Amino acid sequence: MEIRDVNTIVTAPEGINLVVVKVETNEPDLYGLGCATFTQRPLPVRSAVQNYLKPLLEGRDPRRIEEIWQMAKVSSYWRNGPVLNNALSGVDMALWDIKGKLSGEPLYQLLGGKCREAAPAYRHADGADPGQVEESARRLMEQGYRYVRCQLGGYGGNFRGKETKEDFGPPEGALSGAYYDPSVYARSVPDLFEHLRDKLGFEVELLHDVHERLDPIEALRLAKELEPYRLFFLEDPLAPEEVGWFQRFRQATTTPLAMGELFNNPVEWKELISKRLIDFIRVHISQIGGITPAQKLAHLCENFGVRTAWHGPGDVSPVGHAANLHLDLASPNFGVQEWPGMSDELRAVFPGAPQVKEGYIYPNEEPGLGIDIDEEEAKKFPPQEELPQWTEARKPDGSPARP
Ligand code: MG
Repeated sequence: MEIRDVNTIVTAPEGINLVVVKVETNEPDLYGLGCATFTQRPLPVRSAVQNYLKPLLEGRDPRRIEEIWQMAKVSSYWRNGPVLNNALSGVDMALWDIKGKLSGEPLYQLLGGKCREAAPAYRHADGADPGQVEESARRLMEQGYRYVRCQLGGYGGNFRGKETKEDFGPPEGALSGAYYDPSVYARSVPDLFEHLRDKLGFEVELLHDVHERLDPIEALRLAKELEPYRLFFLEDPLAPEEVGWFQRFRQATTTPLAMGELFNNPVEWKELISKRLIDFIRVHISQIGGITPAQKLAHLCENFGVRTAWHGPGDVSPVGHAANLHLDLASPNFGVQEWPGMSDELRAVFPGAPQVKEGYIYPNEEPGLGIDIDEEEAKKFPPQEELPQWTEARKPDGSPARP
């Protein structure tokens, strides 16, 4: 058996660029799919797959996943960046999909079998004020969701309609961008959760994403202020460049900490896990190179009491969501799965995508990842050429900020 062809499909059914890799074999109709979505930079990922990985893979045995992963990882010599990791992930997931199809079993069986029948999901609730967030959370709770991430106005500090240079910038010479005020944001969050716990009680699990919008000491102050509201976790309280602060966080607060959606390199997570400085790892699986490294990471976390909460926003393709889910089902130390909801258009492009019932995500029982791509349907949604503007973030004085 050998790899005969490798193709990369970029499609945007929800206006978000998704990158999917299709690895074909010399066996009729035997192929695999993988998620390689780096929505802000899809074209370099496609080039990395087509110009560099495809020639490396053609003619190789697709069953030798570990060997191919190890070899492809270092074939560029320089490594661990988001473009090359996503390209590698697209191939890696596709090889696991092929292996599952060869075995006739869903992928979770190859990963050790089910620990649970379905994965509890969390959804996003937001609004311009605490009352609107409460309403948004209630709608999700009525659908059966038991975990809700709550944010004021997007990520916070830039309440809806107030994120332009006229609202925030200096009186003259201010540049355009998505403005937010870290101080306004930090003060607003404890008030939000006081309102939510007062109105919703403590049975629903509430989460919050700082989205690395605060300086470290401000983030620590927020984590302490949120203790009475018993968050399920506080996400990305620090930028990846500031992980040296986690030791101080651990000594100062009992708010559970989740980290890692921007991680690419294993050196970024090893100490956080082995020193028990975080509670949840939430890497974006395609950003670290696919299922092969993610399964090892989940096992590492299991040894240190850290749970998984894989990144699961709209800029993960349904193929990537299926990969998240198979790992969730097979991992004893799974925590919760972020879930964006999927439109009918998206589901038409990706038949077999996971389904949600009463707040739980279920796979289908087809072999491998259990998901396909309708390439004709995908062509109806060509890649978006305009990049998202939210990543051009600014602080009140107009200087560039983390989005
Ligand atoms: Mg996040």
